[in-house]
Amino acid sequence: MKKWMWLRNNAELEKNFLLHTENIKQAGIDAILFSGSIEAIEKLIPITQKLKIELHIWSITGICSDPEIIKNHPDWFMLNRNGESCLQNPPYVDYYKWLCPSKLEVKKYLTERIVKLCSYPEIAGIHLDYIRYPDVILPVAIQPEYNLHQTHEEPQFDYCYCPECRQQFSAKTGIDPLDLQSPSTHTNWLKFRYDNITNLVNSLAKIVRPKLFSAAVFPTPKIAKELVRQDWTAWDIDAIFPMIYHKFYDENIEWIKTATKIDVQKLSSKTKLIPGLFLPHLTPDELPIAMQKAMESGANSIAFFDYDAEKIMKHPF
Ligand SMILES: [Zn+2]
Repeated sequence: MKKWMWLRNNAELEKNFLLHTENIKQAGIDAILFSGSIEAIEKLIPITQKLKIELHIWSITGICSDPEIIKNHPDWFMLNRNGESCLQNPPYVDYYKWLCPSKLEVKKYLTERIVKLCSYPEIAGIHLDYIRYPDVILPVAIQPEYNLHQTHEEPQFDYCYCPECRQQFSAKTGIDPLDLQSPSTHTNWLKFRYDNITNLVNSLAKIVRPKLFSAAVFPTPKIAKELVRQDWTAWDIDAIFPMIYHKFYDENIEWIKTATKIDVQKLSSKTKLIPGLFLPHLTPDELPIAMQKAMESGANSIAFFDYDAEKIMKHPF
């Protein structure tokens, strides 16, 4: 069974890339999903080559913290149903500054980033993350952390109502989404947003291949659509990594099996299903059980979130 691990760059890690990559290799990991700057990627490439560990770039897609973009293109960011920009009023957390996928310039900007990453022959694949809308509803177990009890879609968490989105939707349907009485149940308005993400993913697919094209997504197709407008079963993608983080949904370990089964049924056979497990929620005893639950339900391999969850290094596979 192939094993994957998400790896976020930080100063300490970058200082000791060789040591940490050796640790990862020794723990039985075959492929790394790495998030870091181009400079860090260039440092990591020869190490992963030497240690024969597969390197995929974990690309944070929808969220943007680039100061140049924030300064020069504030209009690229999403607006909620109250007309507030997530640049000035990010929902939930400060870093929730989301780019609107309706805008041609945004698509160009995201495409150029991926083109650059694909120019490295040593990089085995591109892994998209945050390829979605902000959570209109948070996973149920996370809501109390923000003093929220979300039973329906509220305007301050509902995106995107920027002029471009309103104009495009109106051109298609004759309706301004701001005039909708019940936007959360309006099939065409929901589909407009699912399709916005799907079209972006599918256009990136053409750039990334023949490298492996993958993405991290919400745990089941139903949850992904309801919480973050991801219709990931429609994506042209080689591997999908559903984040089956059971405790975020108030579920027990058995749910890893249930969710994996649903995902396998919904996906086309050409797409690999690689469930992500959230290590801080699993004791060392539970970890092999969780892996088994996923594998016996038809997963192709397993991914672990993430290297910072130190316990995995103490309990290699
Ligand atoms: Zn928009």
